[in-house]
Amino acid sequence: LAQLFRPLDLLGMVYRTIRQGVIDMGAMFDLIDTPADVTDAPGAPALTVARGHVRFEGVRFGYDPDRTILDGLDLDVPAGATVAVVGPSGAGKSTLARLLYRFYDVGAGRITIDGQDIAQVTQGSLRAAIGIVPQDTVLFNDTIGYNIAYGREGADDDEVAQAARGAAIAGFIERQPDGYATRVGERGLKLSGGEKQRVAIARTLLKNPPILILDEATSALDSRTEADILATLEAVERGRTTIVIAHRLSTIVAADRIVVLDQGRVAEQGSHAELLRAGGLYAEMWSRQAAERDAALAAA
Ligand code: ATP
Repeated sequence: LAQLFRPLDLLGMVYRTIRQGVIDMGAMFDLIDTPADVTDAPGAPALTVARGHVRFEGVRFGYDPDRTILDGLDLDVPAGATVAVVGPSGAGKSTLARLLYRFYDVGAGRITIDGQDIAQVTQGSLRAAIGIVPQDTVLFNDTIGYNIAYGREGADDDEVAQAARGAAIAGFIERQPDGYATRVGERGLKLSGGEKQRVAIARTLLKNPPILILDEATSALDSRTEADILATLEAVERGRTTIVIAHRLSTIVAADRIVVLDQGRVAEQGSHAELLRAGGLYAEMWSRQAAERDAALAAA
């Protein structure tokens, strides 16, 4: 009988969690999606981040054994640099971010941070070193202050306000009648896509991780909001190693390096100008997206 009830218990927990309007990507995966075989190696030490140099070395991975998604991927993200990853839909861009956060273990090869294999250090220390600004931030049905403070356990009001300033959302919050005590979510204030992203940025500022993953929203924000958010993010990226998972090329023109993924491998890499000159896959994607933008403008 106990065996019958255990899955029900788990379902109940998942349901209650979703009902709360949760959740941060990390917590969600911890709860339901982390495969049981992602565990700490016996006696694993904590990760020590000196500068935040991230490397993928010959990484092979597939969700199913019969379908390879990454096929010997090599990727070098120098400490403090911003590297944007682009490529056709389904190329494995988000998968790469999930592997760095160790939601899954690689099938072959390894991922290192400052020379330490991420599979050989504690998951807690790994995840403490990485901040994720996800595509779509889900908020708790709680106050906006709580939603920001969630970035770091024990953060005080001053720290929350400072993070909100860094994410350029403090003014908006202070204009609400209840300020930081304003309730958000289903039963409270509805935030726009851009405002939610700013909450995610404020959380990340509180966490203050040396390594940052920005998973760009697929749905476009209006261009003014997008430009504002990009300016905020630029400040957040300073001094951190940043991987930007980009769906729209217009947002990553200024990245230190752009890496084009195709069929599980790095097809090309370089700066925006270098890749345009090379006239390969990136140049093709750029002219296609430019044509789409022009068509959208003409239709407006
Ligand atoms: P997009 O630009 O469309 O977001 P992407 O490059 O980020 O694409 P991924 O999300 O990394 O692509 O997915 C790569 C491939 O892996 C896709 O074919 C996808 O269907 C598959 N995939 C992603 N997540 C899972 C999963 N949990 N189980 C099985 N297959 C998955």
